[in-house]
Amino acid sequence: MIITIDGPAGTGKSTVAQRLAQVLQFEYLDTGAMYRMIALKVLSSAVSLEDSDQVANVAGATQLEFDQGAAILDGGDVTHRLREPEVSAAASVVAQNPAVREILVSQQQAIAKGCDIVCEGRDQGTIVFPHADFKFFLTAAEEIRARRRMEDLQRQGTEASFNLVLSEQRERDARDETRSIAPLQPAADAVIVDSSEMTIDEVVTHLQAIIRK
Ligand code: C5P
Repeated sequence: MIITIDGPAGTGKSTVAQRLAQVLQFEYLDTGAMYRMIALKVLSSAVSLEDSDQVANVAGATQLEFDQGAAILDGGDVTHRLREPEVSAAASVVAQNPAVREILVSQQQAIAKGCDIVCEGRDQGTIVFPHADFKFFLTAAEEIRARRRMEDLQRQGTEASFNLVLSEQRERDARDETRSIAPLQPAADAVIVDSSEMTIDEVVTHLQAIIRK
């Protein structure tokens, strides 16, 4: 069984997807972490983010794995680097690259083959798993999303002003929503859940109730 959860940053998508996978005893796939790992590798190399051919070469020559929740890039654990603001911004730039998307989409489909899995991202219900058993699209008001992101960063020891987080989020949302390939949008058959006024537990319970119906 495949369950997809898509939506913009700060909707609680990752935590909801992880918890849902845990309660259902499903696998969990964080596809954003895959774009983030490619971005991190490009940032750590001499390749320019704007050089789409070279960025695609980097993606093709990269080994991405997950090991008990840790993100492994070419054999090294990079989990702690993936939420850095420059990696977030670069991830949404590499995600505009059609060749990178093609590579990652086929890896995601291969990972999910034969599994019961919750897949989280931007295009899981629309492009990667159009025949998923359940599709959810999480939304929330942009100020609420930015506040959640700021609190996340603070928990990780990074001080960030609300206005800076909000403006970076707006830039990233605009790139994700307006790109020519796989723009962020709900699948026609996705259940849209506005998490603005809901706790993570409430969202998970709500999704579970829909799945059980
Ligand atoms: O979900 P997360 O914030 O970790 O994703 C980082 C970036 O990766 C997003 O801003 C988006 O540009 C890209 N992404 C994507 N498709 C996915 C998952 C993430 O384009 N399935």
